[in-house]
Amino acid sequence: MSKQYDEVIIIGGSIAGLATAIALSPFASRVTILEASSCEAFHDAEAGAAVQLSDNGLKALQFLSADLLQTVLHHAVEVQKNYMILPSGNDLYDTITLLPPQGTRTLMMRWGLLRKLLFEAIPQDIFCIEFDTVVKDFSAGILTATREDGEERYPISDRTLLVAADGSKSAFRPTPLQYSPRLNVKATIPFSNLPPHFESHATYSFLGNPEVACFLGPSGPHHYYWAISLATENPEAVNLSIDQLIARLTSPETEIWRELVQATPPHKVFFQPSGQADIPEDMVHGNVVLVGDAAHCMSGSYGQSACLALEDAVTLATGPLLHYTPQRRQRCLDLQAASQQRATQAVNVKSDAPQTMSDWIYQWDVPTACPPENSNGPYAVIG
Ligand SMILES: Cc1cc2nc3c(=O)[nH]c(=O)nc-3n(C[C@H](O)[C@H](O)[C@H](O)COP(=O)(O)OP(=O)(O)OC[C@H]3O[C@@H](n4cnc5c(N)ncnc54)[C@H](O)[C@@H]3O)c2cc1C
Repeated sequence: MSKQYDEVIIIGGSIAGLATAIALSPFASRVTILEASSCEAFHDAEAGAAVQLSDNGLKALQFLSADLLQTVLHHAVEVQKNYMILPSGNDLYDTITLLPPQGTRTLMMRWGLLRKLLFEAIPQDIFCIEFDTVVKDFSAGILTATREDGEERYPISDRTLLVAADGSKSAFRPTPLQYSPRLNVKATIPFSNLPPHFESHATYSFLGNPEVACFLGPSGPHHYYWAISLATENPEAVNLSIDQLIARLTSPETEIWRELVQATPPHKVFFQPSGQADIPEDMVHGNVVLVGDAAHCMSGSYGQSACLALEDAVTLATGPLLHYTPQRRQRCLDLQAASQQRATQAVNVKSDAPQTMSDWIYQWDVPTACPPENSNGPYAVIG
């Protein structure tokens, strides 16, 4: 097969960057990832908390590699019910929301493990990853990055595709991240001590107090994730100790979260400010393409960030660059609006009014049509 690109350089080796490396490897002579974190942090399968994979993400994984999908299915847990504890006047009661919408699946797995499995699925012969490498700037055809041993400059020819997969604070997106006044604190741990009335294949949300929303659920065989979303004026600045976090859990219903937090080694707690950014009019500029949170950062209330990142990678591999924005933008805008609406509902919820379930989110398919006009093959030759 002739290669469309001499090199694909990907900034950021997380879900979007690694999935793109797999998807584009048939089309490039070389794939390089520049990743800010250290090699040690990168290979930690316990990093982060849990990631949600629904039918759309699973289809994207199947496209990337059938073997990878099988390995993911082996390490994931299918969620069968979603229990929400909502405030109703002074009473708290349980309600069961069908999750996912009829006929679709939702799996949860450890975030660090998904990253590890994606990494292992990249064809190694043409691939290299440079750790501790922070990209600072791209101008006049030169990408500049800093490393411990100084500055590195990467000339970008018009036969190089540059993929910005540098997450929510991307340096490649024209608009900055707007923080929402919430901070998400989370982790995943081996845990077997759930009280008997908690079902093992269910997720639990406790929304009793708008200041502190709590979530927990399975994140793989014998693992649970917990997440606590805190209202705070400055999500970037907050770095809570475990004790301070526990002090916020005042309601009796949050006892299980206190136990989970206490059972978590402090270094495993992951702080993730919540926010969203405008989705650019065009997600491709010359030979730079935005994927994942760099392209469409949004509130996590639908838990779709990883699935969208996988969809991006597949879309890049199945159509010309020219068609990437039209394929992706409207879907991401719709999901961003739905996520924001759901986040607002979650903190303002006063009753057991049914949550809106949006089947369209999960009904994504691998793009099949590759319109022949203006394209030179599976995707456009750049430059
Ligand atoms: C350590 C970590 C843990 C996470 N845990 C969870 C979780 O448990 N659950 C969940 O739903 N989501 C989690 N996320 C976020 C989740 O991965 C994303 O929301 C989503 O999957 C989209 O992924 P992404 O690759 O676009 O962005 P991200 O996952 O944010 O990845 C961006 C990558 O780019 C790198 N990077 C950033 N700036 C630069 C730069 N200038 N130069 C070089 N590299 C750069 C970062 O180190 C990171 O690896 C986590 C992200 C990280 C980084």
